[in-house]
Order: sequence, then C-alpha cells, then structure tokens
Amino acid sequence: MKRRYKSLFYSLIMSFALPFLFVFPSLALDVSVRVLVYRGKEFSVSGKFLSLYIRNSESQEIKSLSRIIGKLDTVNLVLDIVDNAQNTKRLELDSRTVLEITGSDISLNGITYRGGLRIISRNNSMLVINIVPLEEYLYGVVPSEVPFYWHQEALKAQAVLARTYTIKNIMSSVGRDYDLESTENSQVYRGKSGEYSSTTDAVNSTKGEVIYYGNSIASVYFHSTCGGHTESLKEVWGIEAPPYLNGVECQYCKESPWSEWERKIKREDWDRIIKDSNIELELNSSGRVSKLNGISGTKIRSAFNLPSTFIVGIEVRETEVIIKGKGYGHGVGVCQWGMKRMAELGFSYKEIISYYLPGVTVDAYRGF
Ligand SMILES: [Zn+2]
Repeated sequence: MKRRYKSLFYSLIMSFALPFLFVFPSLALDVSVRVLVYRGKEFSVSGKFLSLYIRNSESQEIKSLSRIIGKLDTVNLVLDIVDNAQNTKRLELDSRTVLEITGSDISLNGITYRGGLRIISRNNSMLVINIVPLEEYLYGVVPSEVPFYWHQEALKAQAVLARTYTIKNIMSSVGRDYDLESTENSQVYRGKSGEYSSTTDAVNSTKGEVIYYGNSIASVYFHSTCGGHTESLKEVWGIEAPPYLNGVECQYCKESPWSEWERKIKREDWDRIIKDSNIELELNSSGRVSKLNGISGTKIRSAFNLPSTFIVGIEVRETEVIIKGKGYGHGVGVCQWGMKRMAELGFSYKEIISYYLPGVTVDAYRGF
C-alpha cells in the first residue's frame, strides 16, 4: 500500500513536472547573439589558452596562444601570434580569411568578453564580432543601460526589455554579418568587463522571459525620461504604431535629472535655422513639438542638440535664445526613470512593463 502511494506520489510529481520539463529547454534559449564590438584596421586579443581557427582554403587550428595581434593592409591580413611560452610567429593571410578565437578570459582592446570572437574583413576594415549566448550577452547589456544600483524590479524590467529587443534584432538580421552593435545604435554592451552582480541577478531571475503582444514578440523601445507623457511611435518615426506604442501618461519620472531642462542657444545659431522671428508651435497629442515654424520637432531637436522635443517655453533674446523643456530621449515606450520610481513604489517588473506598454504580456520565450 505504501509503495502504491509512493508511485502515485511520483506520478503526480511527474504530471506536474513534465510540462515544465518540456518548456524549460526552450526557456534555456540556446540562442547566440552576434555583436559587433570593434571595427578598424588593427586589433589585439589576449587571453588564456586561446585557440585560433583560420578559415580559408586550407583551414587550420592553432592552440595554446596568449596573444593575437592583427593588422589589415590592402591585400593581406598580417597576424602576430604569441603562444603560452611567449614564442612569436608571423602569418600572412589573404584578407578574406575568417578568424575565430575561443578560450577563456578573451580580452579585446582591454575589454573582456564571454563567448568567442569572429573576425572578418569588410570594405577594407576588420569587424570583430563577439558570439555569445543570449543570456550572457544580457549580463553585459543591462548595467550599461541602467545603473546597477537601481531597484531590482527596475533591473528585471530592463532585462526583459533588453532580451525582447535582442531577439527582435536576431530575427531581422538573418543573412547579415552581425545582429547588433555594441553602442547606442543598438544597446550599449561592455562585455564581461561591464557586469555587476545585481544586474546579473535580474537577468537570471527573468531567464527566457520576453514581451509579447498577442502571439508576436513585441517591438520594444525605451528612453531615459519621458517628462510626463510617453510619445507615440508614429510621431517620431512616422510608422504605424501598434496599440501599445501610442503613449501613456507618466507621473513617475519627476526625480530624473532630466525632468526639466533649459538650453541657451546663440541667437545667430537660432536665426540660421529659424528664419522668422515669429514662432509658431504645433504640439502633438503627448504635448511635444511636432512642428516649429514648419520644421519637424525631431529636426529641431537634433539641430540644437536638445534633450527632447518636449519644449515648454522659448524666449528669444537679443543675443541668445532660451529653450525650456522636459524629458530626455525620443520618449517612445518605457520611461526608464519612471520605471525606477514605479519599482520603488512596489510595482513588479511585469506591472511596470504593462503600464508603459499597455496590452502586452511577459511570457516564456516560445521560439521564433
Ligand atoms: Zn516618465
């Protein structure tokens, strides 16, 4: 009788556990990310027990290296390789050769990376691409996007945003040399050198979670400070916005250093672009400037290097123009300073995400 109970107990456990056993392997996200970490004519890689794979007409592998220095001239890729016993050797390779480097503590130009490096040449430059498992890539992204000392729920929200953004990029980069850049053009990424335990915890505790709208992975955007209302995607890029990117009111980013700002511009610089002394402002539904004397708000923002298009006052003086405004960034999607405050007020990362992106859900990744 005892035995029967025992087996019943195990079969119960298995019936609960099995769905998870099937779900978890896909949660593990055995997806690698290809991140462009360097573009230039020279590189220097160091590490412990590096393996160098040279892929050209006759592929070869060289093991136990400590340093690999590469230079590209018009025809050749010149490599100086140093082994663990400090012996140096020079190799002259066709510039179309693809190099792959694996090992531990791989460091490129002083930054340490997880995963491996692939080096290819394109248009007379070498591209160094870090190939790294998705979750490990996120360890180096989250602390570069938000301060590591922010509330854990805010860090978790950023981790889910970054994961979703990354998967979207992987989906759209098929056939290209890399998925993302390591700068503001994509997401700032500083490899293992940029990691903190608090942000790594946030990545681990949200492992495999992404943002869905219905059955599709959501297009996510984030910015520093909205200034009171987030912006519609359509206002910034002119593309039709999904319902969760139409902008929401935000009362949470008042503590941001960018909550309010003021810029002084030389009158001559102002006059060069704004030719009329009468100012006509057109505001959009979020309160931002859509047009100033017929010029789009985004053009005005870049011309005068303003933190945002959320202009609340313009004072034209004899020699200068004072512009007052709110917020920092394009304003679309999640307001990061608002996210920080919401976390401090007790909202969970899922509540924060669905506040700024109404109608989305945070769910386990279900594959492309
Ligand atoms: Zn805000």
